[in-house]
Amino acid sequence: MAVARTRSVALVGVAGRTVEVEADVGNGLAGIHLIGLPDTALSEARDRVRSAMVNSNYPWPDARIIVSLFPASLPKRGSQFDLAIAVAILGAAGVVPAERIAEPFFLGELGLDGRIRAVRGVLPSVLGAAKHGDVTVVVPSGNSAEAVLVPDVKVIPVADLRQLVEWLRKGDEPPSVELEEYAEPPKSTVSPDVDLADVVGQPVARRALEVCAAGGHNLWMLGPPGTGKTMLAERLPTLLPDLELDHALEVTAIHSVAGVLPPNAPMMSRPPFVSPHHTATSAAIIGGGSTIVRPGAVSLAHRGVLFMDEAPEFPRHVLDALRQPLESGRVTVSRSAGSVTFPARFMLILAANPCPCAQAEDQGETCKCSPTIRRRYLGRLSGPLLDRIDMKVTVARSSRRELLADRQFVETSKTVAERVLVARERAAKRLAGTPWRSNAEVPSSVLHADYRPSDEAMHPMTACLDAGTLTARGLDRVVRVAWTLADLADKDTPGEDETNTALGFWLGVR
Ligand SMILES: [Zn+2]
Repeated sequence: MAVARTRSVALVGVAGRTVEVEADVGNGLAGIHLIGLPDTALSEARDRVRSAMVNSNYPWPDARIIVSLFPASLPKRGSQFDLAIAVAILGAAGVVPAERIAEPFFLGELGLDGRIRAVRGVLPSVLGAAKHGDVTVVVPSGNSAEAVLVPDVKVIPVADLRQLVEWLRKGDEPPSVELEEYAEPPKSTVSPDVDLADVVGQPVARRALEVCAAGGHNLWMLGPPGTGKTMLAERLPTLLPDLELDHALEVTAIHSVAGVLPPNAPMMSRPPFVSPHHTATSAAIIGGGSTIVRPGAVSLAHRGVLFMDEAPEFPRHVLDALRQPLESGRVTVSRSAGSVTFPARFMLILAANPCPCAQAEDQGETCKCSPTIRRRYLGRLSGPLLDRIDMKVTVARSSRRELLADRQFVETSKTVAERVLVARERAAKRLAGTPWRSNAEVPSSVLHADYRPSDEAMHPMTACLDAGTLTARGLDRVVRVAWTLADLADKDTPGEDETNTALGFWLGVR
């Protein structure tokens, strides 16, 4: 009887951290003890591992078994340690050679019958393992498509415990998986047949959407129902370029941890579009959960679009909680067991009806909301939140004549996306050598030190600052949008035209 060691990975937010798993099978009262496992899912691991071994016809050692997972300080939640626990016991009991299990990482949940079940968060776990250099990672077959996205890692997919033991005994490898087998990634979460050309009669909102796409900015649209606010928001992703590989991996890792990755086509190469309903829980929007912390909508929208329709209907604490990710691109979920940070850099699109009854007067319905009620309704969107919204536009119902007149100016998503791409490349070139790629990401201090427009261009903002209609934070937003307008206009630096337009967008809905 002996000791055997192997490795697995624990997730802290979306970061994978190595966990050493050690099994000691020796003299003493028969039984199994788990050390370093704080959570009920893990004590259930003991029962699953035993059943899986017995039902796969491997003898359960009639001895004292101690399994320890360390470092003990890491939160080890969920079922993905089952496989590592099982192979450590099998190694210590001499069923598989202990030296064969020391190097590889094992991830997976065991079914009672010995089947190996897919788990959440395989991509970030494999990314964590890959920090050790050339590694072999054993994953459930159901997760292999996701695991092979990580470069320079040997992925061994296994379907059940018997297959795994055969491999460990003989070295006969189950076919390792290559990325090419999964050549068809999902292109977008938005239906491919939506196009900006569908939205006729809203030239200002279409232009605002283009600016958002080019600079990564936030937008508030105010208008009665049926004016196309949702249509507009849904078309924003069609203006955005594909995600670069590092961003695609970040986005995919978050969706993997949330357990919402589409099977067999896992790489998310398009910016996500996430649209939570105002009745969704705070945990669903911001992130949270009682045992395992899951990323919320703000993180699922990372590197993409978060659309909040009927924004004033969202609970105040949810709206307020948006401020942190809007500033930092990250969200911290605090719980009694400690806090977890997830990436959350998204473009926020808010839509609001002008009043709570949401009846469009010009549809023949009568709105009975008083000016006070209307003011109070929109007042639910706090000043500090609106300070962080770069552009605010009013979306009104267009007359038949306006619709006809606008028709000739409508452009397809493809045409606008080409301009967006050129503007984005211009910004990326200017920001080369910094951690940022779009204007929206540039921090305030850097904005003022390195990207301050000329005094002449800053002139329109002075009066607003003096009058108190523009805050310091608002000024930063205006300058960022002005840079994007300059990028779209193929100018080296924003002039008074750009700052004036940007200021108009920022002041917007009044
Ligand atoms: Zn009303």
